[in-house]
Amino acid sequence: TRTSITSVNPYDNEVLAEFPAMSDEEVDRAVAAAHDAFQGWRWFSPAERASVVGRAGELMRERREELARTVTLEMGKLIGESRGEVDLAADILGYYAEQGPALLADRPLLVEEGKAVVASRPLGVLLGIMPWNYPLYQVARFAAPNLVAGNTILLKHASNCPQSALAFERLFRDAGAPPGVYTNLLLPSSRVGRVLDNRRVRGVSLTGSDRAGASTAERAGRNIDKSVLELGGSDPFIVLDAEDFDRTVEAAAVGRLSNMGQSCVSAKRMILLPDVYDRFVEELRRRFASLVPGDPLDPRTTLAPLSSEQAAKTLVSQVRDTVDQGATLVTGGGRIDRPGAFVQATILTDVRPGMRAYEEELFGPVAVLYRVAGEDEAVALANDNPYGLGGAIFSRDLRRAERLAERLDVGMVWINHPTSSHPALPFGGVKCSGYGRELSDLGINEFVNKKLIRTF
Ligand code: NDP
Repeated sequence: TRTSITSVNPYDNEVLAEFPAMSDEEVDRAVAAAHDAFQGWRWFSPAERASVVGRAGELMRERREELARTVTLEMGKLIGESRGEVDLAADILGYYAEQGPALLADRPLLVEEGKAVVASRPLGVLLGIMPWNYPLYQVARFAAPNLVAGNTILLKHASNCPQSALAFERLFRDAGAPPGVYTNLLLPSSRVGRVLDNRRVRGVSLTGSDRAGASTAERAGRNIDKSVLELGGSDPFIVLDAEDFDRTVEAAAVGRLSNMGQSCVSAKRMILLPDVYDRFVEELRRRFASLVPGDPLDPRTTLAPLSSEQAAKTLVSQVRDTVDQGATLVTGGGRIDRPGAFVQATILTDVRPGMRAYEEELFGPVAVLYRVAGEDEAVALANDNPYGLGGAIFSRDLRRAERLAERLDVGMVWINHPTSSHPALPFGGVKCSGYGRELSDLGINEFVNKKLIRTF
């Protein structure tokens, strides 16, 4: 079962590179090497491990242009966004290099006699299964905290971004990570189960679709391995008043269109109170219609292709079916007449329960706008969804927005800013969006043994 992993430019469908998938024997050897490496790495001091991670972050900055270009060529995002992704990924490596050891510090507990200390000790070999939408950021937020914690890493990246995956592995090799501490596995998802069945693998973190998450968690469960899942989202973006209208519309456009809408925390459902609704639809329509498709390497381009032809087909069929089910198409709705995985920036209104766009995650530049009568209806609509990842609320009245934030069944609420990610802040969701957190003190403590030492 030796298939190949292929890198295709979604802008023009050119095959960029092809790599043979690893054989089962090669994978077994990689797991054994990661396990051997763990026996050394776990006894390095946190500061020593942090310095390797910090060096990888510096190399990332030195290689900014080359990495950004690789990401854009492989999955199609605008070159400016790829540069931004390199910067964020490097910030994450730098942050855990600096703060990681303190976040892992031993915790003394109050006891009547003697001493009690809870130490955070690594679990062993971890498998990361990561998606193509942010090929560097997704890996950085898994690898940086876990390496500083003393775990060793096997990374199975999405099959459409092998070059980004290999470039990431090179950063750690060049930063002086001992062999086996960070290993990229070139492997299709059909062969991941076997890695999880290896007794030496002690945990798995997956970012991707709920289908991939469920099957990975099931396999991890059978092996009694810890898992963290960061899955899809259909985040609400709630606008309570029109006092800062221009800024709010700008945030909505950014929230929905950055990364061409291929983000788990994208503003997929805009929920608007009556006094903003009409103006909002019109202004967002104007912005969506003015985007310029083109080569994502060209800085003048504002509408990039999606990550693959398949992604474009799926999105357009979700929109078509929703319109057939009775929704209103305000703008867009189809492919752009040129080669590549281009889809028009699209706005849908009059979307109701049962329609595809109501029930499913739309992973691309499609905004669904809902008009609601008031706050209670906004909350009911926001929570009437299988996902619970993030959410954004816009209002001049901060107390009102904070009260509303309490009522959303999600893992993260951002007020007066599109939902985003920062090295120091926890990231993750509830319901079908998964469980566990990445980043922050919560993320670095997911894959550790909270080990009690009780002394008399
Ligand atoms: P997938 O969930 O299929 O891919 C994400 C990662 O999981 C890839 O590395 C993939 O490997 C792997 N994977 C897929 N199936 C399994 C499995 N059964 N067991 C173990 N690993 C698996 O996402 P897609 O790229 O297919 O995108 C489909 C949809 O998923 C999107 O439209 C979007 O809704 C959602 N998604 C959400 C993301 C997020 O950030 N929350 C990111 C990406 C997708 P391989 O590539 O080899 O199949």
